Amino acid sequence: MPERLVYQAYRFLWTMVDWLYPPVCGGCEEKGERWCEACNRRSQVIVPPVCPVCGQPQAEEVLCRRCRQAPPAYTALRSWAIFGNQVRNAVHRLKYKGDLGIGEVLSRPLITGLRQYGWVVDLIVPVPLGLARLAERGYNQAALLAWPMALALGISYRPKSLCRVRETRSQVGLKLAERQENVQGAFSARREWVAGKTVLVVDDVTTSGSTLNACAAALLEAGASAVYGLTLARAAWEPAQAPVAA
Ligand SMILES: [Zn+2]
Ligand SMILES: [Zn+2]
Repeated sequence: MPERLVYQAYRFLWTMVDWLYPPVCGGCEEKGERWCEACNRRSQVIVPPVCPVCGQPQAEEVLCRRCRQAPPAYTALRSWAIFGNQVRNAVHRLKYKGDLGIGEVLSRPLITGLRQYGWVVDLIVPVPLGLARLAERGYNQAALLAWPMALALGISYRPKSLCRVRETRSQVGLKLAERQENVQGAFSARREWVAGKTVLVVDDVTTSGSTLNACAAALLEAGASAVYGLTLARAAWEPAQAPVAA
């Protein structure tokens, strides 16, 4: 399949980059590879049971209280690992240090995950950055995870299907209601590209799922038939925000 060849070419390109500029591990910063075996072993990969909708780790595979009270716009959201230690460091390097190769190496568990979930997806889009932030950073870290996924799985990739119509402040440190308010109406989707499609939205980290939910709402409003979310990492809830019944 041509898509798979393109993916192999993409990976080969990164192998060449590694050869020219020997990488350090995104997790522990040891020289040699972009993501080492030890960091991979120490990462807390999220396994069931989780809430079947928002993917929040919990004691049982039942709908969590928050999803029962206010069902999200997305059909399901999953994350590969807990946002801690090695994974946190890798995301930080991907996002703020221009360590772009981490996107390719850490899209691999997302590709495996997507195959396992069995979601049938027509279109992959990254959570978009606002223009000001994109200009400042020079790249969208979520796109560096989303694009190789699309190449590997032969799924359409149209990042401009979704755009941020207003800048939002960082979600860090905000309470749940503030997070929801901060991103509400912040996105808009292009009807001609998303109508009738099942869309997968990809991001680096989720905490409350508010950003993914706002993206899903915009996509559904533009006619998407369903929206799934996948993130590399999931930040732990602060106890006061815990959505799970004790
Ligand atoms: Zn490492
Ligand atoms: Zn839930």
